[in-house]
Amino acid sequence: MSDCIFCRIAAGEIPSDKVYEDNDILAFRDINPKAPVHILVIPKQHLVSLNDVASPDEALLGRMMVVLRDLAADQGVSETGYRVLSNCGPDGGQEVDHLHFHLLGGRKLGPLG
Ligand code: AMP
Repeated sequence: MSDCIFCRIAAGEIPSDKVYEDNDILAFRDINPKAPVHILVIPKQHLVSLNDVASPDEALLGRMMVVLRDLAADQGVSETGYRVLSNCGPDGGQEVDHLHFHLLGGRKLGPLG
């Protein structure tokens, strides 16, 4: 979608601090990090949120989880611990309407609010 900021990042139209990329998935550092490690993992195809995920996307979602696991290892937080979350919709606090998983780590994270 041309007006979606994460689609534009995936297309290389907006710069990002990339940490991983393959044909279907991109990971880049959050511009407003909430922890020493704060990475966003997105599908390159436009899916609004988990609400938008259908059966054909199951392999992609599974692959994203493996990428998140591997990024946690690359960033050195596998043993200290980390958090993976996806905000969905208004009550979930979703600001960007393109599916993304946050990978947070590098400090003790507080309880979820
Ligand atoms: P959410 O509230 O789950 O939709 O999170 C959206 C996240 O995207 C926020 O943590 C923002 O800081 C982050 N963000 C927005 N624009 C950019 C950008 N251009 N590059 C990197 N991160 C961004």
